[in-house]
Amino acid sequence: MHLREMYRKGQLGLSFELYPPKDSAGDKALFRAAEKLKDHRPVFFSCTYGAGGTTRERTLEICVQLQRDCGVPATSHFTCVGSSKNELIEWLSQAKQSGIKNIMTLRGDVSPSAQIRPDGLKHANELVSLIKEHFPDLGIGVAGYPEKHVEAPDLQTDLDNLKRKVDAGADAVFTQLFFENRNFFTFFEKYQKAGIKVPLIPGIMPITEFDRIKRMTAMCGAHFPPDLCSRLEAVKDDKEAQLNIGIEHSAKQCEELIAKGVPGIHFYALNLSKACRGVLKAIGR
Ligand SMILES: Cc1cc2nc3c(=O)[nH]c(=O)nc-3n(C[C@H](O)[C@H](O)[C@H](O)COP(=O)(O)OP(=O)(O)OC[C@H]3O[C@@H](n4cnc5c(N)ncnc54)[C@H](O)[C@@H]3O)c2cc1C
Repeated sequence: MHLREMYRKGQLGLSFELYPPKDSAGDKALFRAAEKLKDHRPVFFSCTYGAGGTTRERTLEICVQLQRDCGVPATSHFTCVGSSKNELIEWLSQAKQSGIKNIMTLRGDVSPSAQIRPDGLKHANELVSLIKEHFPDLGIGVAGYPEKHVEAPDLQTDLDNLKRKVDAGADAVFTQLFFENRNFFTFFEKYQKAGIKVPLIPGIMPITEFDRIKRMTAMCGAHFPPDLCSRLEAVKDDKEAQLNIGIEHSAKQCEELIAKGVPGIHFYALNLSKACRGVLKAIGR
């Protein structure tokens, strides 16, 4: 199904983001989690792509297997950093031949091993244009940042850049994870004022382990509320208690987001099912 058709009025489009594991034990865990998550009738699973092409084949293999074994559409993430235009077109062609209908279209983090190339693309909006030019049938999701992207000087500049991606042809925007809904709602107001009309899907990451989430939020720049931090700090030696606090917090976030009418929720599932299932059970989904 094309991304454009996934968010229907009166329905909540759930999606779960997974990543390519490093070994066969990880693969088994991923597919065990996917089997359980599919009970919640997601509109898609997605699988991340290593910036610079580190998971070029693995990402596609996992998407193909998710579609075949779980019967759920799989969106492949794809980054342009570190690749030439020709390499990008070649991979997209392979993805299309493999039965992938939707691409989460990203630049990726620039790093010593993933640089912008002179024969490549600088930003995700250029990758959106490339897809529209060569593979107009593919659905396109792009990233949005309610608390602004770490490199952007301010939220408005980042939003102007987000609009370039949508104007280039993106079908939906998926947000970076956030823990405070008011930041999402403020962003959504500005998003609407900027005239962006495609669905904005909030990204929620249920906390599973305090240390892990601290590392991830530091990397992506998401604000971590001090009261949530203190509650987790108080149970730092008890993983079960951390999981329960995480579920409770994400469930509250989701309830409020749904009450305000979001078209879907994109869960950063991290190849685990327990936390997402806990949240969905708590909100009766
Ligand atoms: C839902 C989601 C999924 C993700 N999946 C992956 C993944 O699978 N693999 C991975 O490596 N990373 C992933 N990321 C992280 C992402 O790659 C990084 O945040 C990266 O640094 C930026 O990617 P982008 O697509 O937002 O880039 P861009 O949209 O290019 O934005 C990057 C920066 O450049 C600015 N900018 C954008 N366009 C222009 C322009 N035309 N001119 C000037 N400035 C501009 C923006 O304001 C921003 O500061 C994901 C992020 C999200 C939210």
